[in-house]
Amino acid sequence: MQLDSINFEFMPIIRKTKSVQILINTIKESSSAISVTDLINRYNEIMNKSTIYRILEKLEHEGIVHSFIGLDGLKWYAKCNNCSSKIHFDTHPHFQCQQCGKLDCLSTNISIPSIPNRKIDFAQVLIVGKCEKCL
Ligand SMILES: [Zn+2]
Ligand SMILES: [Zn+2]
Ligand SMILES: [Zn+2]
Repeated sequence: MQLDSINFEFMPIIRKTKSVQILINTIKESSSAISVTDLINRYNEIMNKSTIYRILEKLEHEGIVHSFIGLDGLKWYAKCNNCSSKIHFDTHPHFQCQQCGKLDCLSTNISIPSIPNRKIDFAQVLIVGKCEKCL
């Protein structure tokens, strides 16, 4: 799975304000996932917290980014690959380094079992360990 082949130009619904563009570029150019706290700390001088939350929610809805919960219990964001406003295909696990906190998408797919009498909205697998730098 090639994580770099995303067409960020194709954004039919979201209005590309400067804030939207900044957040998209930040997530797109980052090799690992970014926590919502990190984004807030980075941009609190140019956009407020609620704007950041609102934009991230929209980007996720549009299939541009996906979110998941890290070890800190916070939401983390990473770019999507071939997702759309109709469906996310992010069935990969995430890996978080316990030492430096780095969190990234793994390029393997996991199969989520179908469960009788249940509808699955999302599933997340977080693998915890040491990254290549901390090993
Ligand atoms: Zn997605
Ligand atoms: Zn590490
Ligand atoms: Zn991911």
